[in-house]
Amino acid sequence: SSYHKVLEENRQLYNQVQDLKGAIRVFCRVKPFLHGKSDEQSTVDYVGENGNIMIVNRHKQGKDARKMFTFNKVFGGNTTQQQIYVDTQPLIRSVLDGYNVCIFAYGQTGSGKTYTMSGPDMTTEDTWGVNYRALRDLFQLSEARMDVINLSSYKFTIDPCYALTINTLDIRNNSQLNGLNVPDASLVSVKCTQDVLDLMRIGQRNRAVGATALNERSSRSHSVLTVHIRGKELVSGSTLKGCLHLVDLAGSERVDKSEAVGERLKEAQHINRSLSALGDVISALAQKSTHIPYRNSKLTQVLQDSLGGHAKTLMFVHINPETNAIGETISTLKFAERVASIELGAARSNK
Ligand code: ADP
Repeated sequence: SSYHKVLEENRQLYNQVQDLKGAIRVFCRVKPFLHGKSDEQSTVDYVGENGNIMIVNRHKQGKDARKMFTFNKVFGGNTTQQQIYVDTQPLIRSVLDGYNVCIFAYGQTGSGKTYTMSGPDMTTEDTWGVNYRALRDLFQLSEARMDVINLSSYKFTIDPCYALTINTLDIRNNSQLNGLNVPDASLVSVKCTQDVLDLMRIGQRNRAVGATALNERSSRSHSVLTVHIRGKELVSGSTLKGCLHLVDLAGSERVDKSEAVGERLKEAQHINRSLSALGDVISALAQKSTHIPYRNSKLTQVLQDSLGGHAKTLMFVHINPETNAIGETISTLKFAERVASIELGAARSNK
């Protein structure tokens, strides 16, 4: 029967989810290398099966030229959106079991963050990124699991411009979003996948109007999409609350290299500050420090619940294998190594 099928599926998922506990997972995705540029060769020497990636710096000679990094998984340039989602799915589904889950996309501008999170074209399902697949999955699964969990409400947070720019992200008291309020974000109840798609379509339209070019948007703002799910466990009767943050971060490139001036420079510095605040929170967690500086940026305040002990966190780090990106590639991978070293507690968050 479908009921037993669901139970069996749950059991399998549970086993998969077990090994996601206790650490920030890091997946590395390499953007496809654009061949045909005569002077350029990929900086990715090879991608191993076991999460290894060998980077080669073509400006250097000998031993110094190569450096190996190891993550939970590394996806080469020919990985499909579907393959990416298959490995993300167990984490996403644990939201229905009351976990707080946070998925970040990190990397320099143009490295494929938006491609992973949203995809290049929402009208083509094959190319859908993690966002749309996750929402479709959560709805389908919650419907199928009605016997086990009664999801009484779905809440969906999205700001009207989809891109939640850090400049307008102003936090005030409100119990709706981790006790914080994001004025440009609206909390909307959604009942089915179509509601979500309609909302996202509106969001994308607004976003396209708000920025002259998509690339410009992705380099200048963080985009945070939050799904709140509440259900009742029929066996124990206890309330389960889960929350999923899908975060497309601003470009991680250093400000001093960009030619930003005036307002753009101010904006770039602001964005870099919130990224470095994220790095500080991550360092403090890694050192098991008693003080975690969540309050230092709006971004880390919003994500506080998903970066502490009761959360599961996945970071997709993106690298652009072009030779001229080698500096950013190395600093991105070093940051990612730091992230990967963090241990989190992983207790359930059914408060
Ligand atoms: P970012 O969000 O990091 O600034 P984008 O996701 O906008 O980068 O990617 C930059 C460009 O590269 C886009 O045109 C995008 O479609 C393309 N791209 C990125 N990743 C892939 C990929 N895995 N496969 C094919 N094209 C990609």
